[in-house]
Amino acid sequence: MKVTINRSILELVEGDITHQDTDAVVNAANPSLLGGGGVDGAIHRAGGPQILEECKTIGGCPTGEARMTIGGRLKARYVIHAVGPIYKDGRQHEPDLLVSAYRSSLGLASRHKIKSVAFSSISTGVYGYPMETAAEIALTTTRRYLEGHPEIQLVRFVLFGMMAYEVYERVLRSMKEAGRLNEGGSS
Ligand code: ADP
Repeated sequence: MKVTINRSILELVEGDITHQDTDAVVNAANPSLLGGGGVDGAIHRAGGPQILEECKTIGGCPTGEARMTIGGRLKARYVIHAVGPIYKDGRQHEPDLLVSAYRSSLGLASRHKIKSVAFSSISTGVYGYPMETAAEIALTTTRRYLEGHPEIQLVRFVLFGMMAYEVYERVLRSMKEAGRLNEGGSS
C-alpha cells in the first residue's frame, strides 16, 4: 500500500529490511549499539563487520534517540540505529519514547540529506510493543514529519510477515478513511 503525503511517498511492504535499496535503513537497535537479535542481528550479518566497528566508536544511544553508521555491504548506504522503548504497561513513557525514536531517525535522515528511508517496526519484536499501537505511532509520527519535510521523498515500512503487514495496512487505511492523511493521491 502506498499513499502520498504532501510531496513524499509513504509505503508499506512485506519483506526483509536487509534487502532494501533505500538510501538508509532503520535498525531496531538496543542502547549498547553492540548488536542483538531480530532486525539488529540480521542487519549486522548482512552488512558485515564494518557496521559494528563504527557502532563501537559511538558509545551507545539512549532510548528514544538514533545514531547513524555506514551500511557496509548492504544496498543501503547508511544504517540509522534507532532505540525504541521496552514495552511494560504503556505507562512508562513508552509512547513518547517510540515517537521520539521515529522522529530522531527522520531528523537524522533530513540532516544528512537522505532522500529515502526504510523502517523496521521498532520495538515490536523482543521489546514487546503491541503491534497495532506501535503502527499507529509509527505512521502518525511519519505523516506529521513528512508534512513539514518534503526533502525526504520516500519512507517505506518493511513489515516482517503478512500479519505485521496487515496490521500496518489496517491502521494506514483507517487514517485515510478518517481524513487524517492530507495526501495528494494513493494506490
Ligand atoms: P525490538 O527489540 O525493537 O523489538 P526486534 O528486532 O526484536 O526489535 O523486532 C522489531 C520488528 O522487526 C519485529 O516486528 C520483527 O518481527 C521485525 N523483524 C525481524 N527481522 C526482520 C527483518 N529481517 N526485516 C524486517 N523486519 C524484521
